[in-house]
Amino acid sequence: MMFIETRGNDGVKPNKVPFSFAILNPSASFGGLYVPENLPKIDTAFLESASKKSYKEITLDILKLFNIDIEEEVMKKAVALYDAFDDAKEPTPLSQIEDDLFVNELYHGPTRAFKDMALQPFGYILSHLAQKLDEQYLILAATSGDTGPATLDTFANKPNIKVVCLYPDGGTSDVQRLQMTTQKSPNLKIIGIHGNFDDAQNALKTLLASPSFKEALSNKHIKLSAANSVNFGRIIFQIIYHIYAYVAMLKQGKVELGKPFYTIIPSGNFGNALGAYYAKKMGLPIEKILIASNINNILTDLITTGVYDLRNRSLLQTTSPAMDILISSNVERVLFDKFGSTRTKELMEALKEQKIYTLTSSELASLQEDFEAVYCDDAFGKEQIRHYAQKGYVMDPHTATCLKAYQTLKAKPLPCVLCSTAEWTKFAPTMLNAIKQDSIKYSDKEALEGISKALHVSIPTCISDLFNETVIHDKVVDKDKIEAEIFDFLNKAAQ
Ligand SMILES: *Cc1c(COP(=O)(O)O)cnc(C)c1O
Repeated sequence: MMFIETRGNDGVKPNKVPFSFAILNPSASFGGLYVPENLPKIDTAFLESASKKSYKEITLDILKLFNIDIEEEVMKKAVALYDAFDDAKEPTPLSQIEDDLFVNELYHGPTRAFKDMALQPFGYILSHLAQKLDEQYLILAATSGDTGPATLDTFANKPNIKVVCLYPDGGTSDVQRLQMTTQKSPNLKIIGIHGNFDDAQNALKTLLASPSFKEALSNKHIKLSAANSVNFGRIIFQIIYHIYAYVAMLKQGKVELGKPFYTIIPSGNFGNALGAYYAKKMGLPIEKILIASNINNILTDLITTGVYDLRNRSLLQTTSPAMDILISSNVERVLFDKFGSTRTKELMEALKEQKIYTLTSSELASLQEDFEAVYCDDAFGKEQIRHYAQKGYVMDPHTATCLKAYQTLKAKPLPCVLCSTAEWTKFAPTMLNAIKQDSIKYSDKEALEGISKALHVSIPTCISDLFNETVIHDKVVDKDKIEAEIFDFLNKAAQ
């Protein structure tokens, strides 16, 4: 299988590339993204035989259907990383919380967020490719919370890869910060930035665009790559858990083979939702993909009105920070799939230049064949957290946004799978506020203990141990010092 570009080809980059190229060099012509030239198909016979298989076996079957240029041995080792999840046999357990509502728990990996589902195997594959090419790669990441820990965890001690991760000082939860700053592996560097997430991300973009920075790296024989959520090496693993959720319902006798279901996805950069869209196109019987947002509701506007409008909008802080996003990068791949590269390039350029694009009414109708969307505010989310906690189910603030879609968009009496993207332990102060109906500013440690006691749930040791570990990366710098910090790290690492 080859990969093509969402905004067409510029005549300089290759026309079609294999998977390995697309994941090592994720930026395509005209600032576009790589997408598979076509998608493999799965039918009811595939799903029926899958219902006798494990998560890992199904993952390998699907990867084989994609026919990518990664040896089977390497894929097996990459997928074996799911063995380290809470339950090696069920890395993504499915919990039933209503007669027709199932929670696909995607957070049972090492950093307790769904980013591990894709980043764990992806990190192994990327490091393997770098070794095979005998090249050294530097991965730069800016994080507002969950991507940083998952990226660092997957690349810790991996050969031929170094990671520098920037985070906004004071802009993450204590748990998220400690997951980064206590990293011991010598190939990782974590730098706090004075400023917010946008400042961290802009600092990174400036560096990536700087010719002198790139030249200094190439003098050191270091190549740059990115592990962000537009990398197709992550997307491919995000198709699989949607398929597995259906298989799990089949296994539990909760759905008849071939009968459709709804899925609800708490969305930010749209990687998770894109995985569901590709699964649907491959043949998974998804009735509709329901997109949940917080008050940064730009995706709700796009899907209900056909207008993506960044004018007069600024990012609002919410209690579901991983969904606080206005430029949702993976939407571009859906636009390409539906409307082709010429139109996608036109729309994405309009967004960059005029800060707005508008779909035609037939384009909007096409989008609505697959997606519906709704948003909620923090107060609604807290009510849901409290309601389900009283019923004995603990869900995090991102997962809680999905209940609005369940209550208002599920039109047909079909089973519904809600994607749960983080464990409650990463957002404990918000959880305790929801349960106690107060607005006290708890520390993460206090809140973890408070919830654990109030709801009789245990805190995984990988979270509780964080508070006793030594902080290794304690530097917090101004934006103009980042480049010097990076070279200081690379020079030391080279010795
Ligand atoms: C990253 C993240 C999201 C958003 O996922 P996208 O694939 O970017 O839409 C939602 N919830 C949590 C907890 C996350 O970490």
